Amino acid sequence: MSSVSRRSFIAGSAALASAPALGAVPTSGETDVAIIGAGAAGIAAARKVAAAGKRFALIEASDRVGGRCFTESRTFGVPFDRGAHWIHMPDINPVAKLSARAGLDIYPAPAGQKLRTGKRYAREGEMEEYLSTIVRANRAIQEAARGKVDVACAKALPKDLGEWRPAVEFVLGPYGCGKNLDDISAVDFARALERDADAFCRQGFGALLAKLATELPVQLDTPVTRIVSGRSALEVTTTRGVIYAKAAVITASTAVLAAGKIKFVPDIPKRQLDAAAKLTLGSYDHVAIELKGNPLQLQNDDLVFDKAANARTAALLANVSGSSLCLVEVAGKLGHDLSAQGDAAMFDFAQNWLAELYGADVKKAIGRTFVTRWNAEPWVLGAFSSAAPGAQGGRKILMEPVNGRLFLAGEAVHETLWGTVGGAWESGERAADAALKLVGGRR
Ligand SMILES: Cc1cc2nc3c(=O)[nH]c(=O)nc-3n(C[C@H](O)[C@H](O)[C@H](O)COP(=O)(O)OP(=O)(O)OC[C@H]3O[C@@H](n4cnc5c(N)ncnc54)[C@H](O)[C@@H]3O)c2cc1C
Repeated sequence: MSSVSRRSFIAGSAALASAPALGAVPTSGETDVAIIGAGAAGIAAARKVAAAGKRFALIEASDRVGGRCFTESRTFGVPFDRGAHWIHMPDINPVAKLSARAGLDIYPAPAGQKLRTGKRYAREGEMEEYLSTIVRANRAIQEAARGKVDVACAKALPKDLGEWRPAVEFVLGPYGCGKNLDDISAVDFARALERDADAFCRQGFGALLAKLATELPVQLDTPVTRIVSGRSALEVTTTRGVIYAKAAVITASTAVLAAGKIKFVPDIPKRQLDAAAKLTLGSYDHVAIELKGNPLQLQNDDLVFDKAANARTAALLANVSGSSLCLVEVAGKLGHDLSAQGDAAMFDFAQNWLAELYGADVKKAIGRTFVTRWNAEPWVLGAFSSAAPGAQGGRKILMEPVNGRLFLAGEAVHETLWGTVGGAWESGERAADAALKLVGGRR
């Protein structure tokens, strides 16, 4: 029995009828391009190869498509994005651009944010001071990035951030990049494109991505374990068979690659392995909490930070798309440590943090809950990449073909949109183009 999911098998058969090159792929056999991973990068690559009229096998280790961009409605009865939720820069985001045809509802995220200081909101003057301190810190990092030697963002920060330091460090580090600023390259940070215009998908960002994969035949529950590069073909071994391909696009995260979950013969060149090893994934998770009746009296999709006294802080995204679902964002070193302790530690931290900001009664209003722990997802092993100081160049190194026929893709393989779904999508398209050049498809 083929491991192609029923839905995708039917879709694949329909596609076959109209376009013979796009076929449901057997678990063993020959194809033009093997695409490893059905997250944003893999879906983008598969659509590109299909549009060029070439055969492909889209192979996914887990039991679903979407990777780190996945929506489910089972837990809360409303769409819950377990991973990516913000559609950054919708005007140029390649995934957002496809949303109209997917028939899903995209709306702009509210501008601005709220800041809690103690048990009240920051006053106008305080808010101005906070925002201007963020701008100053940002500029200092941009300035440092122009220096001869790359440094950690933490080193570049102005010394006089005063009482705003913990909040600013959290917003720019754990919240923005999944890591504390000591661990992030100033050059990598500075090269990231501004992400100040955002949108949400009412049905979930993951639902949008899944929709874009509907017509693609995907082999689910099929980890790739080994790729042998021969002179004229690749031998791609999965837990269900062997596929022979002329080229492959590999979208597994840098953490999965560094963990050696796929054996490469010959090995990936050291230069690329080193690059992947320095583009480690940060920690970023949602503690999702149902708060019925809007006890915090917040607007839909309000984003709240805290004028924290130390690094034990988080962010809150309230009333997601008008529902009772609220997300406490736990990230960076604190998130990493709590995630290692387990769900209960994550939830405890989140509810106590909320109680500090809004009073102990908030705990009584908590309904259903769910904690994500991306560091423990076996086929991802973290949230998203950021470069260690000195390692930004690794993103470009990962774009070089590996052993002639392998092309790496994924959020880490993008110089400016790293850490995003849009960046992963673009990298998937780029890798597919390179693979098509090799196999001779229309580009
Ligand atoms: C909690 C969280 C919040 C985020 N928030 C946002 C946000 O708001 N906006 C935004 O733009 N981005 C956000 N991101 C980042 C975004 O989700 C990722 O950058 C993007 O989804 C990565 O896509 P990808 O295709 O590179 O990798 P993935 O999504 O990881 O896809 C790779 C796929 O490869 C599969 N795979 C791995 N190894 C194998 C193997 N050996 N064989 C077969 N398959 C394999 C995996 O199962 C996975 O499905 C967030 C991420 C997290 C974790």
